[in-house]
Amino acid sequence: MSLAVKEILNIGCRQLEECGIADAAIDSKLLYCHLMNITTTQLILEYQQILSDALCDEYFKLLDIRSSGVPLQHITGVQEFMGLEFAVNEHVLIPRQDTETLVEDALDVINKNELRGEPLTIKAKKDYDVLDLCCGSGAIGVSLAALCPKVKVTCSDLSKDAIAMAKQNAAKLAGGKKVSFEEGNLLMPFKGRFKNKKFDMIISNPPYIKTSVIPTLQKEVRDHEPMMALDGGASGLDFYRQIIADAAGCLKKEGVLMLEIGHDQREELCALLEETGQFENITGLQDLANRDRIIFATLAPKKK
Ligand code: GLN
Repeated sequence: MSLAVKEILNIGCRQLEECGIADAAIDSKLLYCHLMNITTTQLILEYQQILSDALCDEYFKLLDIRSSGVPLQHITGVQEFMGLEFAVNEHVLIPRQDTETLVEDALDVINKNELRGEPLTIKAKKDYDVLDLCCGSGAIGVSLAALCPKVKVTCSDLSKDAIAMAKQNAAKLAGGKKVSFEEGNLLMPFKGRFKNKKFDMIISNPPYIKTSVIPTLQKEVRDHEPMMALDGGASGLDFYRQIIADAAGCLKKEGVLMLEIGHDQREELCALLEETGQFENITGLQDLANRDRIIFATLAPKKK
Protein backbone atom coordinates (compact mmCIF):
# COMPACT_ATOMS: atom_id res chain seq x y z
CA MET A 1 0.00 0.00 0.00
CA SER A 2 1.85 3.06 -1.22
CA LEU A 3 0.48 6.47 -0.39
CA ALA A 4 1.18 9.98 -1.65
CA VAL A 5 2.75 12.36 0.83
CA LYS A 6 -0.40 14.52 0.79
CA GLU A 7 -2.54 11.52 1.81
CA ILE A 8 -0.12 10.53 4.54
CA LEU A 9 -0.25 14.04 5.96
CA ASN A 10 -4.06 13.97 5.96
CA ILE A 11 -4.06 10.68 7.82
CA GLY A 12 -1.51 12.09 10.25
CA CYS A 13 -3.52 15.23 10.84
CA ARG A 14 -6.71 13.26 11.53
CA GLN A 15 -4.99 10.91 13.95
CA LEU A 16 -3.46 13.79 15.91
CA GLU A 17 -6.79 15.62 16.00
CA GLU A 18 -8.52 12.53 17.34
CA CYS A 19 -5.90 12.33 20.08
CA GLY A 20 -6.60 15.91 21.09
CA ILE A 21 -3.33 17.39 19.83
CA ALA A 22 -3.83 21.14 19.45
CA ASP A 23 -1.77 21.88 16.33
CA ALA A 24 -2.57 18.68 14.46
CA ALA A 25 -2.17 20.03 10.92
CA ILE A 26 1.17 21.69 11.58
CA ASP A 27 2.54 18.84 13.65
CA SER A 28 1.64 16.21 11.04
CA LYS A 29 3.76 18.18 8.55
CA LEU A 30 6.61 18.91 10.91
CA LEU A 31 6.91 15.23 11.80
CA TYR A 32 7.25 14.44 8.10
CA CYS A 33 9.83 17.19 7.61
CA HIS A 34 11.75 15.82 10.57
CA LEU A 35 11.67 12.29 9.13
CA MET A 36 12.88 13.42 5.71
CA ASN A 37 15.17 16.16 7.02
CA ILE A 38 13.55 18.80 4.82
CA THR A 39 12.05 22.25 5.42
CA THR A 40 8.33 23.03 5.24
CA THR A 41 8.99 24.87 1.96
CA GLN A 42 10.59 21.78 0.44
CA LEU A 43 7.64 19.74 1.68
CA ILE A 44 5.23 21.60 -0.61
CA LEU A 45 7.16 20.30 -3.61
CA GLU A 46 6.82 16.70 -2.38
CA TYR A 47 3.04 16.52 -1.86
CA GLN A 48 2.36 14.35 -4.92
CA GLN A 49 5.29 11.99 -4.41
CA ILE A 50 4.61 8.40 -3.43
CA LEU A 51 6.18 7.34 -0.16
CA SER A 52 7.78 3.91 0.21
CA ASP A 53 6.16 1.51 2.67
CA ALA A 54 9.24 1.64 4.88
CA LEU A 55 9.06 5.42 5.17
CA CYS A 56 5.30 5.26 5.73
CA ASP A 57 5.96 2.94 8.65
CA GLU A 58 8.55 5.27 10.11
CA TYR A 59 6.19 8.21 9.76
CA PHE A 60 3.38 6.33 11.51
CA LYS A 61 5.77 5.43 14.33
CA LEU A 62 6.56 9.10 14.89
CA LEU A 63 2.86 9.88 14.65
CA ASP A 64 2.07 7.37 17.39
CA ILE A 65 4.69 8.89 19.68
CA ARG A 66 3.29 12.40 19.12
CA SER A 67 -0.28 11.08 19.52
CA SER A 68 0.62 9.78 22.98
CA GLY A 69 1.36 13.37 24.06
CA VAL A 70 5.14 13.54 23.67
CA PRO A 71 5.88 17.16 22.66
CA LEU A 72 6.90 17.66 19.05
CA GLN A 73 10.15 19.25 20.23
CA HIS A 74 11.12 16.09 22.12
CA ILE A 75 10.83 14.20 18.84
CA THR A 76 12.63 16.73 16.67
CA GLY A 77 15.06 17.71 19.45
CA VAL A 78 14.85 21.41 18.64
CA GLN A 79 12.85 24.59 19.22
CA GLU A 80 13.34 27.88 17.44
CA PHE A 81 13.68 30.88 19.75
CA MET A 82 14.71 34.42 18.76
CA GLY A 83 15.48 33.08 15.28
CA LEU A 84 17.98 30.59 16.71
CA GLU A 85 17.61 26.82 16.77
CA PHE A 86 17.94 25.57 20.34
CA ALA A 87 18.52 21.92 21.13
CA VAL A 88 16.07 20.71 23.78
CA ASN A 89 15.34 17.52 25.68
CA GLU A 90 13.21 16.34 28.58
CA HIS A 91 15.55 18.01 31.10
CA VAL A 92 14.77 21.58 30.02
CA LEU A 93 11.66 23.65 29.55
CA ILE A 94 10.91 24.05 25.83
CA PRO A 95 11.52 27.76 25.12
CA ARG A 96 8.21 29.63 24.79
CA GLN A 97 7.34 32.44 22.44
CA ASP A 98 6.20 34.49 25.44
CA THR A 99 9.77 34.50 26.67
CA GLU A 100 10.95 36.13 23.43
CA THR A 101 9.24 39.28 24.68
CA LEU A 102 11.48 39.21 27.75
CA VAL A 103 14.60 38.84 25.60
CA GLU A 104 13.49 41.62 23.24
CA ASP A 105 12.93 43.96 26.19
CA ALA A 106 16.31 43.01 27.65
CA LEU A 107 17.98 43.77 24.29
CA ASP A 108 16.38 47.23 24.29
CA VAL A 109 17.63 47.86 27.82
CA ILE A 110 21.15 46.72 26.96
CA ASN A 111 21.48 48.23 23.47
CA LYS A 112 19.42 51.40 23.74
CA ASN A 113 19.01 51.96 27.47
CA GLU A 114 15.27 52.10 26.89
CA LEU A 115 12.20 50.05 27.68
CA ARG A 116 9.24 49.89 25.27
CA GLY A 117 10.44 53.07 23.60
CA GLU A 118 10.88 55.03 26.86
CA PRO A 119 14.40 56.11 27.84
CA LEU A 120 15.53 54.68 31.20
CA THR A 121 16.64 56.92 34.02
CA ILE A 122 19.70 54.78 34.73
CA LYS A 123 23.01 55.43 32.95
CA ALA A 124 23.73 53.54 29.73
CA LYS A 125 26.56 51.01 30.10
CA LYS A 126 29.26 50.05 27.60
CA ASP A 127 29.47 46.41 28.67
CA TYR A 128 26.83 44.24 30.23
CA ASP A 129 27.50 41.38 32.58
CA VAL A 130 24.29 39.34 32.50
CA LEU A 131 23.17 36.45 34.69
CA ASP A 132 20.50 34.14 33.27
CA LEU A 133 19.18 32.47 36.39
CA CYS A 134 17.33 29.13 35.99
CA CYS A 135 18.71 29.05 32.45
CA GLY A 136 17.31 25.68 31.35
CA SER A 137 18.22 25.27 27.67
CA GLY A 138 19.95 28.65 27.81
CA ALA A 139 17.28 30.25 25.62
CA ILE A 140 17.47 33.66 27.31
CA GLY A 141 21.18 33.91 28.05
CA VAL A 142 22.46 32.30 24.87
CA SER A 143 20.15 34.49 22.74
CA LEU A 144 21.46 37.62 24.45
CA ALA A 145 25.05 36.45 23.93
CA ALA A 146 24.38 35.55 20.29
CA LEU A 147 22.49 38.72 19.42
CA CYS A 148 24.34 41.38 21.36
CA PRO A 149 28.08 42.01 21.11
CA LYS A 150 28.33 43.97 24.37
CA VAL A 151 27.12 41.26 26.73
CA LYS A 152 28.96 38.64 28.69
CA VAL A 153 26.60 36.01 30.02
CA THR A 154 26.60 33.59 32.93
CA CYS A 155 24.00 30.84 32.70
CA SER A 156 23.10 29.11 35.93
CA ASP A 157 20.75 26.33 36.91
CA LEU A 158 20.26 23.81 39.69
CA SER A 159 20.06 21.02 37.13
CA LYS A 160 23.29 19.48 35.83
CA ASP A 161 21.37 18.18 32.82
CA ALA A 162 20.07 21.65 32.01
CA ILE A 163 23.57 23.10 32.22
CA ALA A 164 24.77 20.42 29.79
CA MET A 165 22.05 21.42 27.33
CA ALA A 166 22.76 25.15 27.76
CA LYS A 167 26.48 24.52 27.16
CA GLN A 168 25.70 22.69 23.93
CA ASN A 169 23.48 25.56 22.77
CA ALA A 170 26.04 28.22 23.71
CA ALA A 171 28.75 26.38 21.79
CA LYS A 172 26.58 26.14 18.69
CA LEU A 173 24.84 29.51 18.78
CA ALA A 174 27.09 31.94 20.63
CA GLY A 175 30.55 30.69 19.80
CA GLY A 176 30.82 29.36 23.34
CA LYS A 177 33.28 31.99 24.54
CA LYS A 178 30.94 34.68 25.78
CA VAL A 179 28.97 32.36 28.02
CA SER A 180 30.06 30.83 31.30
CA PHE A 181 28.16 28.39 33.47
CA GLU A 182 27.41 27.83 37.12
CA GLU A 183 25.54 24.94 38.64
CA GLY A 184 23.73 25.81 41.85
CA ASN A 185 20.65 26.99 43.68
CA LEU A 186 19.47 30.41 42.49
CA LEU A 187 21.86 33.14 43.68
CA MET A 188 23.69 30.92 46.20
CA PRO A 189 26.73 30.42 43.93
CA PHE A 190 27.20 34.19 43.63
CA LYS A 191 26.37 35.74 46.97
CA GLY A 192 28.39 35.80 50.15
CA ARG A 193 31.45 37.60 51.38
CA PHE A 194 34.00 35.59 49.40
CA LYS A 195 32.11 35.01 46.18
CA ASN A 196 30.25 38.27 45.80
CA LYS A 197 29.90 38.20 42.04
CA LYS A 198 27.86 41.15 40.80
CA PHE A 199 26.01 41.62 37.52
CA ASP A 200 24.65 44.49 35.46
CA MET A 201 21.52 42.46 34.80
CA ILE A 202 19.88 39.45 36.39
CA ILE A 203 17.27 37.95 34.10
CA SER A 204 15.18 34.89 34.89
CA ASN A 205 12.25 32.76 33.89
CA PRO A 206 12.00 30.72 37.09
CA PRO A 207 9.36 28.06 37.83
CA TYR A 208 6.19 30.02 38.64
CA ILE A 209 3.17 27.78 38.30
CA LYS A 210 1.19 27.10 41.48
CA THR A 211 1.48 23.46 42.56
CA SER A 212 -2.32 23.18 42.55
CA VAL A 213 -2.45 24.27 38.89
CA ILE A 214 0.11 21.71 37.65
CA PRO A 215 -2.46 18.87 37.21
CA THR A 216 -4.53 21.12 34.91
CA LEU A 217 -1.69 21.80 32.46
CA GLN A 218 -1.71 20.40 28.91
CA LYS A 219 -0.55 16.78 29.01
CA GLU A 220 2.48 17.59 26.87
CA VAL A 221 3.64 20.01 29.55
CA ARG A 222 2.46 18.12 32.63
CA ASP A 223 3.76 14.70 31.67
CA HIS A 224 6.85 15.54 29.65
CA GLU A 225 8.42 18.83 30.67
CA PRO A 226 10.61 19.00 33.79
CA MET A 227 8.49 19.65 36.87
CA MET A 228 11.43 21.40 38.50
CA ALA A 229 11.20 24.06 35.77
CA LEU A 230 7.48 24.65 36.29
CA ASP A 231 6.43 24.19 39.92
CA GLY A 232 6.71 27.45 41.83
CA GLY A 233 5.31 26.06 45.10
CA ALA A 234 1.89 26.58 46.70
CA SER A 235 1.80 30.31 45.90
CA GLY A 236 3.81 30.03 42.68
CA LEU A 237 6.11 32.62 44.21
CA ASP A 238 8.73 30.47 45.97
CA PHE A 239 11.52 31.20 43.53
CA TYR A 240 10.73 34.90 43.16
CA ARG A 241 10.88 35.32 46.94
CA GLN A 242 14.39 33.90 47.07
CA ILE A 243 15.59 35.74 43.98
CA ILE A 244 14.23 39.05 45.23
CA ALA A 245 15.74 38.53 48.69
CA ASP A 246 19.23 38.03 47.20
CA ALA A 247 19.18 40.03 43.96
CA ALA A 248 20.23 43.41 45.36
CA GLY A 249 23.41 41.86 46.77
CA CYS A 250 24.33 40.46 43.35
CA LEU A 251 23.66 43.56 41.25
CA LYS A 252 26.11 46.31 40.35
CA LYS A 253 25.15 49.97 40.70
CA GLU A 254 21.91 50.67 38.79
CA GLY A 255 21.73 46.95 38.01
CA VAL A 256 18.62 45.65 36.29
CA LEU A 257 16.36 42.80 37.39
CA MET A 258 14.06 41.31 34.74
CA LEU A 259 11.71 38.45 35.55
CA GLU A 260 9.20 36.54 33.50
CA ILE A 261 5.97 36.15 35.48
CA GLY A 262 2.62 34.41 35.15
CA HIS A 263 -0.29 36.51 33.85
CA ASP A 264 -1.77 36.91 37.35
CA GLN A 265 1.40 37.63 39.34
CA ARG A 266 2.20 41.27 38.57
CA GLU A 267 0.73 42.84 41.69
CA GLU A 268 2.28 40.30 44.04
CA LEU A 269 5.67 40.66 42.40
CA CYS A 270 5.59 44.45 42.46
CA ALA A 271 4.65 44.31 46.15
CA LEU A 272 7.51 41.89 46.93
CA LEU A 273 9.99 44.19 45.20
CA GLU A 274 8.59 47.33 46.88
CA GLU A 275 8.80 45.71 50.32
CA THR A 276 12.56 45.26 50.05
CA GLY A 277 13.06 49.00 49.65
CA GLN A 278 16.04 48.08 47.45
CA PHE A 279 14.52 48.58 44.01
CA GLU A 280 13.07 51.38 41.95
CA ASN A 281 11.56 51.81 38.47
CA ILE A 282 9.43 48.75 39.25
CA THR A 283 7.40 48.18 36.09
CA GLY A 284 5.08 45.45 34.78
CA LEU A 285 5.14 44.74 31.03
CA GLN A 286 2.77 42.77 28.84
CA ASP A 287 3.31 40.08 26.21
CA LEU A 288 1.96 40.10 22.64
CA ALA A 289 -1.43 38.88 23.90
CA ASN A 290 -1.46 41.86 26.28
CA ARG A 291 -1.16 39.69 29.39
CA ASP A 292 1.19 40.62 32.22
CA ARG A 293 4.42 38.75 31.51
CA ILE A 294 7.46 40.67 32.72
CA ILE A 295 8.62 42.62 35.76
CA PHE A 296 11.43 45.14 35.36
CA ALA A 297 13.19 46.87 38.24
CA THR A 298 16.49 48.62 38.88
CA LEU A 299 18.66 48.60 41.94
CA ALA A 300 18.03 51.74 44.00
CA PRO A 301 20.99 53.71 45.36
CA LYS A 302 21.98 52.58 48.88
CA LYS A 303 20.32 54.65 51.59
CA LYS A 304 22.92 56.49 53.66
N1 GLN B 1 5.08 29.75 30.80
C1 GLN B 1 5.36 28.40 31.10
C2 GLN B 1 4.13 27.54 30.79
O1 GLN B 1 3.16 28.05 30.37
C3 GLN B 1 5.79 28.24 32.53
C4 GLN B 1 7.16 28.76 32.70
C5 GLN B 1 7.64 28.75 34.09
O2 GLN B 1 7.10 28.19 35.05
N2 GLN B 1 8.71 29.41 34.22
O3 GLN B 1 4.15 26.34 30.89
